[in-house]
Amino acid sequence: MSFSIKENLNHFKKDLASNVSLLAVSKTKPVAMLQEAYEAGQRDFGENKVQELRDKHPLLASDIRWHMIGHLQTNKVKYIAPFIYMIHSVDSIKLLDEINKRALSANRKIRVLIQVHIAEEEEKFGFDMGEISRLFNKEFIDNYPNIIFCGLMAMATFTENTDQIRNEFKSVKKVFTIIKNNFPELTEFNELSMGMSNDYKIAIEEGSTMIRIGSSIFGSR
Ligand SMILES: *Cc1c(COP(=O)(O)O)cnc(C)c1O
Repeated sequence: MSFSIKENLNHFKKDLASNVSLLAVSKTKPVAMLQEAYEAGQRDFGENKVQELRDKHPLLASDIRWHMIGHLQTNKVKYIAPFIYMIHSVDSIKLLDEINKRALSANRKIRVLIQVHIAEEEEKFGFDMGEISRLFNKEFIDNYPNIIFCGLMAMATFTENTDQIRNEFKSVKKVFTIIKNNFPELTEFNELSMGMSNDYKIAIEEGSTMIRIGSSIFGSR
């Protein structure tokens, strides 16, 4: 397959409404490819492994915003806390506690998205829909002064059934809206990270504000 990273990025950017941002998922890809995307103007990069973030981060420009999108073990938070821009994959209270603690040590605030488990697949992580709506209250929010709650992240079931994908995204948007309306003090709760190469169009139609695109930018893995 022949492709140019720049052309692929431009293809996505020209179709995106101004309220939807593009996260370039660069996992497994060499630094030279990220550099190419950077030179084409891309600033948000998503990785799913702590080790890869640690390896790539020092080799690239300091104005890159690094997003952690994969399952994160609590014992590894300390390695990314000093520089990570946003963690999309927050799937437990224990992890929130650790992120808050490490953000405090690094003297910064870390943006997080709470991951919602909507897919049929057992191996996908996240809080269930019911847990999410019960999670937020004033006490909970006040417990995490070094965390900025920025919204929700979800992965749909890997299926050809587009109705199912659409319904899954719809249900996340519903919980998102409820939380946003109930907690106006969460002034930065604005992001719905939904949609990958295969389902981003549906995700955008259902309210995604950030699509996470890997293979359609960098080629298959
Ligand atoms: C790999 C990955 C993506 C990107 O997937 P593509 O199908 O390559 O676009 C998006 N989100 C998460 C959580 C991922 O792990």
